[in-house]
Formats: sequence, C-alpha cells, structure tokens
Amino acid sequence: MSVPNETLPNEADANAGATPLMAQYLAIKAENSDCLLFYRMGDFYELFFDDAVKASRALDITLTKRGKHDGADIPMCGVPVHAADAYLARLIRSGFKVAVCEQAEDPAAARKRGAKAVVRREVTRLVTPGTLTEDALLDARRNNYLAALARAENRYALAWTDISTGDLTTAPVNLASLGAELSRLEPGEILISETLLGVPELFELLGEWKGKLSPLPQPRFDALAGERRLKTLYGIAALDGFGAFNRAELSAAGALVDYVALTQKGRLPQLKPPRQVAAGDVMTIDGATRRNLELTETLSGARAGSLLSTIDRTLTGAGARLLAQHLAAPLTDPKAIAARLDMVQAFVDDAAMRQALRGVLARMPDLERALSRLSLGRGGPRDLAAVRDGLAETHAAKEVLSRTSPGGLPSLAAAAVEDLGFHGELVDRLRRALAAELPVLARDGGFVANAYRPELDELRLLRDESRRHVAALQTKYAEATAVPGLKVRHNNVLGYYIEVTPRHAERMGRDFIHRQTMANAVRYSTVELGELETKIAQAADRALALELALFDDLVGEVTVRGREIAKAADASARLDVAAALAELAEERRWSRPKVDWGVAFHVQGGRHPVVEAALEASGGGGFVANDCDLGPGQRLWLLTGPNMAGKSTFLRQNALIAILAQMGAYVPAAGAEIGAVDRLFSRVGAADDLARGRSTFMVEMVETAAILNLATERSLVILDEIGRGTATFDGLSIAWAAVEHLHESNRSRALFATHFHELTALAARLPELANRTMRVKEWQGDVVFLHEVGPGAADRSYGIQVAKLAGLPKTVVRRAEAVLAMLEKTGQTGAVARLADDLPLFQVAAKAAEPAAATSEVERLLAAADIDQLTPRQALDLLYQLKALLAKT
Ligand code: ATP
Repeated sequence: MSVPNETLPNEADANAGATPLMAQYLAIKAENSDCLLFYRMGDFYELFFDDAVKASRALDITLTKRGKHDGADIPMCGVPVHAADAYLARLIRSGFKVAVCEQAEDPAAARKRGAKAVVRREVTRLVTPGTLTEDALLDARRNNYLAALARAENRYALAWTDISTGDLTTAPVNLASLGAELSRLEPGEILISETLLGVPELFELLGEWKGKLSPLPQPRFDALAGERRLKTLYGIAALDGFGAFNRAELSAAGALVDYVALTQKGRLPQLKPPRQVAAGDVMTIDGATRRNLELTETLSGARAGSLLSTIDRTLTGAGARLLAQHLAAPLTDPKAIAARLDMVQAFVDDAAMRQALRGVLARMPDLERALSRLSLGRGGPRDLAAVRDGLAETHAAKEVLSRTSPGGLPSLAAAAVEDLGFHGELVDRLRRALAAELPVLARDGGFVANAYRPELDELRLLRDESRRHVAALQTKYAEATAVPGLKVRHNNVLGYYIEVTPRHAERMGRDFIHRQTMANAVRYSTVELGELETKIAQAADRALALELALFDDLVGEVTVRGREIAKAADASARLDVAAALAELAEERRWSRPKVDWGVAFHVQGGRHPVVEAALEASGGGGFVANDCDLGPGQRLWLLTGPNMAGKSTFLRQNALIAILAQMGAYVPAAGAEIGAVDRLFSRVGAADDLARGRSTFMVEMVETAAILNLATERSLVILDEIGRGTATFDGLSIAWAAVEHLHESNRSRALFATHFHELTALAARLPELANRTMRVKEWQGDVVFLHEVGPGAADRSYGIQVAKLAGLPKTVVRRAEAVLAMLEKTGQTGAVARLADDLPLFQVAAKAAEPAAATSEVERLLAAADIDQLTPRQALDLLYQLKALLAKT
C-alpha cells in the first residue's frame, strides 16, 4: 500500500520537473550510487530507473513504468517488504549491493506538514555480501567473512570479521601467502584501497577474487585513524593487551570497522576483541591444494562428499562454523594441538558425559547470530528467546561437565566451562518477560508474557473487555432489531461495523449509521460501537508502545552483557566441536595422533575418510588400510601402479590425516606420528583454468613451480602425475628433475605418484627415495586391484586392461595391445615412424577381425586368433608369426 499523498510524476508533470518524491529519491540515490536502492513505499520496496532494470532482470520480476522524468518513462519494479529477505539474498548472490531506504516517520506525521509533504526517508543499512546478518541470507553452518587487505610500511596485512558472530582477526601476510590466506577464509567481500588495486603483483594475485573486491578510497585505510577507531570501539587507551599489531594490521582492521559502521549506519555489532594470527601459527595450504583435497567442497562444488561434510558431527551452527574454521586452519604448534586433542580425548573416554553434553547442545539455538542481530537493532522477540534458551543450555552444559571424573577436565574444557559464565538472572528475566508464542517482529506485539508488567496486563484487560463488549453488542442489536443474522465484524478499512443482509436493511433504526452497501450486505456503525472501538484502539496502541519499550529494555540488557554472552556462545561452540570429533572418533574407530616438533610421518593402517565412507555407503568392498612411513632413508616415496589401483587415494589420505591431526582431531588410522607440517602442497589431477587463460599443462606447471619454490623440510608434498600433460619425454624429464629437486633441495616429506616407471631407477642414486607400488593381481588376463601399498616398483602399467574394464571397443583394445607389444619389442628408443610402418593400419586390423573379409594368410591368421584366450607370451609369438608372414609377401 503506497502512501496516497506521495505521488510519482505523471504524464502531466512531465515538464514540470521532478515531484518532491522523485527529488527525494534522486538525492538519496546520488548518495548511494554504487548500490541498488530499495526505496520504501508503504508495503513495498520500489526500485526505479537503471536499478529497476537490473533488479527485474536479476530477480526475474516484472518491470513496469510509473510516471516520467525528463520526458522519459521511469522504469520501476518492486518487492514486498515481507518477502524482501529472499529477494535481497538473490541480489547479493548476483553480486549487487543494496541500500535499504526506510520511511523514517509515520505518514500521518508527514501529512501534518501539508498535503503534498513527502514522508522523510533514510537509508538504514547497506546490504553487501560481507555484512549480512539475517538467517535467511546466511548459511547457518558457515562463516561469512568481510576481509580487508592493507599495506603500510611496505608490509601487508589482512583483517577479517564475521559481523553475524562478532569475530575479528588480523594477520600479517606477504604476497606469497596472500592467496592461501584468502582461500582459507573464502571471504564474501574484500575491502581494498584504490591505491592497492593499482599494484600490478596484486592485480594478478587477486584475479580470482575480482568479483568480491570492494575498493575504497585510500584515506579509509589510514593506520592512525584505524588505531583510534579500534580504541574507541573497545573503550581502551592502548591496544597492547590484545597483541602487538603492526601498522598494516591496524590499517586493515580500522578500514574494516569503519566499513561495518558505514554499512550498518553507525550501529556496530558486538565485535569480540581482535585476535591476531601470527605468521606460521597455522599450516599454510594454498587454494589449489584446498580444492584438490576437497576439504570443504568437492571439485564439482558440492558440499556432500567433502572432508568437512564427512567429519561434521556438530550439533550447533556455531559449532559447525568453528569446525570449518579449524579444518581450514590446522595448527602448527604441537602443544596447542595436544591441548585440543586432550579435550577430544576427554569426550572419547567418557561417553556418558559426551552424550549428556550433546543432548544439551542439540537444543541450543544460534546465540551468536541472535546476539549480533540484537546489537545491530535488527533483532526481534525470537532473538531474545534464542538468547534465553541458549544461555539456559550453557547452564545445563556446565552442570554436565561438572559431573566429571576425579581426574578433572583437561585445560581447554575447564576454560570453556569458565567461559560459559553465569547468566541465571538474565535467563530468569527473559523467561518471565517473554510469552510462549512469539512474533518475528517486535512491532507485531503480543510477545510480552502476562503478569510481567501489571500496567500491560491492565491495558490488555481493557482491550479484551472492550472486545467482549463488542461481542455482547451483537446479541443486543440482534434482539433490538429482530434481525437474527446480524453480525458485528471488523476489517482494516472500516474498523468495527454491523452487518445485515439487504433484505433486513429496513429494520435498522435511526441509531444505525449507514457505512456501506454491498451486493449481499449492508454495513452500519453506532456511536456506542465507535466509542468501544476507540477504547480498544487506544488500549492496543498503549499496550504496543509499552511492549516496544519493554523490548528495548530487554535488548539493552542483553547487549550490555554482550561480551559475556559472546564468550558463552564461543565456549559452547568449542565444546560442540570437541564432543563432535569424539563422537566421530568412536563411531569410525579413529585414533589419537601424536604431533611433535620432529619430521616423522608415520601413519599405521591409514584410511581415506571420504572414500571409506563412500565404499561403505555403496555396500562395496571394505577399504584397505595402508601404512605410510616417510622416516629416515625413505623421506620421498615414489609410488607406481596401474590406473585405478588407488594411488591418488593413498596420496590424499595421508595429506588429510596430516590436516586432521593438526586441527586437533583423531585420525582415520590405527596410529599416526607426525612432525608438525608447516605447509601442505598438493599437485593432483588436472583442470583447465580457462578463466585465467591457463591450459591444463600450464596449471600443472604453475602448481609444481610453487611447490618447488616454497616447500621446506617441514612441509608435506603430494604430487600426483607430474608431466602427464605434455609429450612423453618432456614430461618424463620434468618429473625426473622435480623428484631430484624435491629430494636434494626442498628435502620435504613427499609422496610422488607416477606412471613414468623410468623414475624408479632414481632410487639407486637418491638415498632418501623409496619405491612403492600399488599391488595388483592378474587373473585370466584381467587385472585385480588389491589396493595395497607394497615395496618395489610396478612391473607394468596395465593401462590397456583398465581401458578394457572401462568398456573401450574390443577392436580398439586389441589394436592397443598390438601396438604395445610392438613398442615393448622395439624398446623406448624405437622410432614411432618405424612402428607406423611395421604395424598394419587400424582399419586393416579392425577389418581383420571379420572372418568374411579375410583374404591373405596374415588376415586369416588374425581372424582365427582368439586374442582374449592368448597369454602375453602367445600373443607375442603370434605377432612374430604375423611379421614373418608379412615379410614374405
Ligand atoms: P588413476 O591413476 O587413474 O588416477 P589411481 O591409482 O590414482 O588411478 P584412485 O583414483 O586412487 O586410483 O582409486 C580408484 C578407486 O579405487 C577409488 O575410487 C576407490 O573406489 C578404490 N580404492 C582406492 N584405494 C582403495 C583402498 N585402499 N581400499 C579400497 N578401495 C580403494
């Protein structure tokens, strides 16, 4: 319902300039030119001009026109306010920012200023991809980060926050680690100064994040101003208590806080004190490795089938988000890892405590996000209820943990209990204050419980009594007029009215004031009814005003305790993660790893968590566990074996075990001893990066280059099939040189899978290189995969057998076998040209398979041979025989 006295320019106004409404619109739009403007008119957000064209296209809604501006039609489209979240979500996902402009006064107040007055409006919020708070716009189980990149004194830093949870973190970065950091965070939006945007090295690095960048003027990144902003935010005189931040970090964090204030129009969420991640605190994993290992999503972008979805047993949104954070950032300090593992072990050892705690967590609402909405003035009664229930459950969680065994809780669990805090008073107040059924919005009223405020009860009584009186009027009037079907009804236009059918209209006396005649009803009012209605309306208005005041009070109380509530929410998330990992460990029979400062990598009976789960789900054979020991004398394993034998699975499972161990989880192995890995590298699979103009081979080489340049003695490297994307000898040479470099220069622990059998000869020269192979059995000409890793090198590739398994046409398989036999005979150095001469053409060979066409001795012999029944030896003999025959003709 748009406001009646607000008019858009119509045809007649076309030359009279903009109407006051349009003038207001244009002024507000000019201040928010980089956003779509959601302009509130009654029950709709309207969009005009270009905004309307873009939004109607993105949302697939009708584009209409309304009035004229500068002689041209004004395009317009609109979305209903009650469904705005869903539309906002789609626009944000399509890369738009939206300025939400609300009516800042009651239309009635505007009318008092004059019939043509325009309702005052102001932008209450900018909705950008990195500053979302609504549940409908967010994924409950994932953080949505807003990041800022800054440079000061020639150093770079990142700061990031999730305003829906209040986390704020900073970290120094360098150009080499920036990509890895960003792919760890996957921010929804990245703030960057216009100056940095022009730095050529950054331009290349930020290529894949182009769509997420929000450039801002350089002054917003001023480090001193940033420091001031942070001090004001936390009400402190010095930031030293939170860490020693360098100027780049202050600049990034300052710009971040400033931008949040800008988008939230001055209101700030409850930001937790900034946390600093020092360089080297977490395992560095670059974007390609994360993607290759399918940590949070599969290569095809699905979440199911990723490591995260396979291990996630958390029960709360905050727990799920924390688990994802831990998985994205495995630690490097063995002490910190052991502390996390101690907490998991406490829940493994005491299953009863774990189950009791999980029972509590399962009932826990999302405290963090409710708190953030309330702090931003965007919360409703249900958010208050979430705080009430969440805090009540923290109390229950504390009770469960206090029943622990005499050994006591490990340090992190004890700290979590401490952080859960005491919230009895607030819970009690909220319990008393809130009704059982709650509306989404405070302005809908009815959320304050009876008996909480006597004054409110009185108003409600007055309202309800008046309503009862209205109901009583119906009987009274029916009797007085002798119209049995007389009804007292209510609608939004007329308010209360009396309704009779037209044929009874003449029975209505003078006391009944006619209001409306419809086809099958006539409507009246009376003075008495009007008075009651006013009473009801006044009581309801006063009741609502009182409820809104009480709501503000309660919100104030919650936000004042925001910091403790956030702490409690955080603590319950940590408990959720530990209990969930314990649940997983017990369910999947995982074991506690040992992580220390050494350089061992010894996994006994390791399994690939995702492949194992998939095999179980499909009812296929069991997963074959394998050891991996990259200890002295075998730091680099060269793994050969046929396709499909399980090489990639083995490589990845060991990388995943390192990640799991260092994030503080149990691992899918009988045992694991790991010297903390500083960086994890993988070069697995091949994918074109056409968006960046790189071919498959180029991607492979870029990734390999990064590994050979950056891997250290503490790193873990897995390389799957280097050099496959080019000609055989080029590829072999590159793989050869890469193995030597890894062995001599990087000295990393490494697993190197290859089809180049020639590389196995390197074992004789490189003392730390060990040959390993995936065992297979041959049975009746077919290959059987055992999925076991054993010492030695594969005797051959079995590529053709695998191709046969895959269903290649028989003729092609036979032809390939013939070519292979010839290649093996002539040796690696045999010229292919000679082969082409020596082997009959494909078509000829294929034809030879058809006996009817057999004419020559060679063809007859070929047609008669049942190649499937031949042993390799017999096949070779046959080839010699054929060759001899050919030589005769
Ligand atoms: P390619 O060289 O073609 O990439 P590969 O040797 O790397 O093949 P994988 O892709 O690792 O082979 O494994 C192929 C399939 O074998 C897996 O999808 C899985 O179903 C099965 N597999 C692998 N390892 C095991 C194992 N240890 N136990 C049981 N099944 C396994």
